[in-house]
Amino acid sequence: MSYPTQLFINGQRQSSKSGRKITLLNPSTEQPVCEVDAASPAEVDAACTSAHKAWENGWRDLPPGKRAEILFNIARVLRDNQQWIAKLEMEQIGKPIADARDEASLGARVFEYYAGGVSRLYGQTIPVARGGFDFTLRQPMGVTAAIAPWNFPFPIACWKVAPALAAGNCVILKPASISPLTALALGELASQAGLPPGVLQVLPGAGAAMGDALVTHPLVRKVSFTGSTEVGRRIMELASRDLKRVSLELGGKSPNIVFADSDWRKAAESSPMSVFANTGQDCCARSRVFVERSIFDEFVARFVDATQKLVIGDPSKEETQLGPMASMAQRSSVEDFLVDARKGGARFACGGDRPVATGAFVSPAVLVGIEKSSRCWKEEIFGPVAAITPFDDEASMIKEVNDSPYGLSGSVWTHDIRKALRVSRAVQSGVISVNCHNSVHVEAPFGGFKMSGIGRDLGMTALEGYTELKNIYVAD
Ligand code: NAD
Repeated sequence: MSYPTQLFINGQRQSSKSGRKITLLNPSTEQPVCEVDAASPAEVDAACTSAHKAWENGWRDLPPGKRAEILFNIARVLRDNQQWIAKLEMEQIGKPIADARDEASLGARVFEYYAGGVSRLYGQTIPVARGGFDFTLRQPMGVTAAIAPWNFPFPIACWKVAPALAAGNCVILKPASISPLTALALGELASQAGLPPGVLQVLPGAGAAMGDALVTHPLVRKVSFTGSTEVGRRIMELASRDLKRVSLELGGKSPNIVFADSDWRKAAESSPMSVFANTGQDCCARSRVFVERSIFDEFVARFVDATQKLVIGDPSKEETQLGPMASMAQRSSVEDFLVDARKGGARFACGGDRPVATGAFVSPAVLVGIEKSSRCWKEEIFGPVAAITPFDDEASMIKEVNDSPYGLSGSVWTHDIRKALRVSRAVQSGVISVNCHNSVHVEAPFGGFKMSGIGRDLGMTALEGYTELKNIYVAD
């Protein structure tokens, strides 16, 4: 298999001038995958300069129909290369191959959606008091930076790149240091699909080494970031110096609320994957499970039973549902949480051990009777750990649900429509699913309340977020 291992600047592969490289390690086998060039601040400057040139010299003023055509072409080329993208993702972060294929296809779908969005970027006509003719215009910003995480490297890169391009911006994409391959593939495939040089550039490297240079570069007008709350806060501080626009998709500690009047058996069977999918490395993971006391014991038994049936292991096998953690470092971080939980007296209904000797594997853990003051209850673990707790009344349960600095997603299970709406409104989060766990729809806004973020990815809301809004008044 071929690996894209060089920086992608101005339509060409380039070696890093600093000579710095990152060695990627397959977290399933602990074997090296390949070495990738790491960008330095000098290359950030080169990329921003060529992006700005590409913007001024054509991309900004391209007729919308032509821009849409190129985005549709990108989607087609991504679909043609679905298997390659999926294998790169599997090797760099241990993503199960079936999931990796689905995510490659989701990326293509995102480009199709925003190709259609190009011609729906409407303004308004406004009947202003003094008469005349007043209207609004959505205009591109210029160079935007897209900083992506390692848990869903390819689809999240597409969530940011596609709407930014559709709105007429150029993009510098910075993938996480352990997951650059699919971002580099996106840059190269987009170029093959007809995207002009400089419109999308990809700079792998550690955030600490070149992130500041990118976020503070004077030509960058917006930073769209997905990652940890801690880094998001730093990006916002840096961006505030010259009032760059930011959108931040950050961490979560989402609730899964199960009432006794719901199809709770179905909830118990489906809920494990709402927290353990992607081996729990999911900002939407419903890791705090609130279950009405009358069904609690049977719910826990069914949840544990469904968890123990999950197929964990070699991500190259079609049947695998849970691969390894994305890195050995991430496994250590999760295991630290588990040590804390044991010390705090939590009961492990199942999991929390290493199922195989090689690779960054952790078996999914179900904790019962956990202290509400413990780290496992309060902090984002970003690993396969669920804590289940009983509740007696709706009002105090909602208070507990909202007693979190985060507010990204959540599920509510009930057959009572009034209760479903009441609870959905009361939970402080950007996304709620009723009687299911689907948080992400390409067509709908996705993002968080409170410390889960600012701004939205996906839907027409994200497309508008890559524009400046201008008001034009024409006198009579
Ligand atoms: P991270 O914050 O460590 O890294 C995210 C990206 O930021 C990487 O590309 C990293 O290299 C870069 N970065 C790091 N330091 C930087 C700096 N100083 N300047 C600029 N860029 C810098 O996060 P992660 O570990 O890759 O991802 C996990 C986190 O992402 C979790 O908290 C998870 O909840 C969150 N996440 C949120 C969403 C969402 O949509 N809300 C989706 C996926 C992941």
